[in-house]
Amino acid sequence: MNKRSVRDLDVRGKRVLVRVDFNVPIKDGRVTDDTRIRRALPTIRYLLSEGARPILISHLGRPKGEPDPKYRMDPVARRLGELLDRQVLKLDEAVGPEVERALAEWDGQGVVLLENSRFYPGETKNDPEFARQLAALADLYVNDAFGAAHRAHATTVGVAELLPSAAGFLLEEELDYLDAVLESPERPFVAILGGAKVSDKLGVIKSLLERADTLLVGGAMCFTFFKARGYEVGSSLVEDDYVEQAKELMESAGERLVLPVDVVVAREMEEGAESRTVPADGIPEGWMGLDIGPKTVELFGRHISSARTIFWNGPMGVFEIEAFAKGTEGVAKAVAESGATSVVGGGDSVAAVRKLGLEDEMSHISTGGGASLEYVEGRELPGVAVLPEKEG
Ligand code: ADP
Ligand code: MG
Repeated sequence: MNKRSVRDLDVRGKRVLVRVDFNVPIKDGRVTDDTRIRRALPTIRYLLSEGARPILISHLGRPKGEPDPKYRMDPVARRLGELLDRQVLKLDEAVGPEVERALAEWDGQGVVLLENSRFYPGETKNDPEFARQLAALADLYVNDAFGAAHRAHATTVGVAELLPSAAGFLLEEELDYLDAVLESPERPFVAILGGAKVSDKLGVIKSLLERADTLLVGGAMCFTFFKARGYEVGSSLVEDDYVEQAKELMESAGERLVLPVDVVVAREMEEGAESRTVPADGIPEGWMGLDIGPKTVELFGRHISSARTIFWNGPMGVFEIEAFAKGTEGVAKAVAESGATSVVGGGDSVAAVRKLGLEDEMSHISTGGGASLEYVEGRELPGVAVLPEKEG
């Protein structure tokens, strides 16, 4: 990564505003998945060990630009305190005189966690005044929120323009892995794409077709390709407006684009629904494809086991339902056993890998669903673009 790193800043004794991604699921006042908090710990621990005073800020959920008790950061503060084993001073606002007073009285121990940035309408509008108020709290700014880097908000862009800024370790790691895959992959480079919609991922498909040796397509999006091939798709999810584009993509990709050879079908997308496996071109009327079949798992597995680099986004089927999870499981296991550099991005894909307990088998699991996909598409992430280049 060619951006200035937190390591390049002189942080001793300084107040460092750190944009973290603590947008975690919460139930009954408890954090139910603390992955994103854990992934921010290296930067926080580094700052503490260097004698800095970290002031953390994140958004949580989608409050409507005003305080909403449902989205207060208190459960996050409790979990962070447990993980860090240091004092977490949680404030009930993110900016303003109360915050400034609390910071002036702060004993400098542990970290400060500001209130949810989206309680302020200025956050998503990247309002200069809100950014100025944030900048007034600190000497330096570090962005470690890869999951929010595709948004041009006050905590990701506005404040970075006002303070000496750098990237945190997680942001760095995310970009380094994605760059390695996109810029200089060891070959063969196999990309695996699945999930719900072709329309969501057209840019990703195109970008990966330019870079990967093979593109394996599963999930609901394969039915739009099936239709483009002239197969009967029954009541499978198809995006009719994209059949033409799917046809063009298949023509330009040739043999590099690999589609399923068999699919698991059912009449309803439900637990316990009667299901069967049929050839890709033999989906009966009234049935829908909900997973890739065992022959496809084998076929995809052969490509995956010979790969040196793998990028995976999107489950192969409706993995939330046991009966349609085998394709995703088979592919996940093949990736885990491949020995390739493997990067997994996308909210549901990551959830699937985690559910299978295979997280540690992947080289890199992205914390940013939307951000990782935009990056793969070749779009510049505003929260990254704003950070200064490394010097010298
Ligand atoms: P990600 O979050 O990893 O980018 P997506 O959001 O694109 O992935 O897609 C995930 C969703 O796609 C899951 O909820 C899954 O149930 C759904 N899905 C996968 N295959 C099918 C299918 N054959 N039919 C309907 N839905 C599917
Ligand atoms: Mg998703």
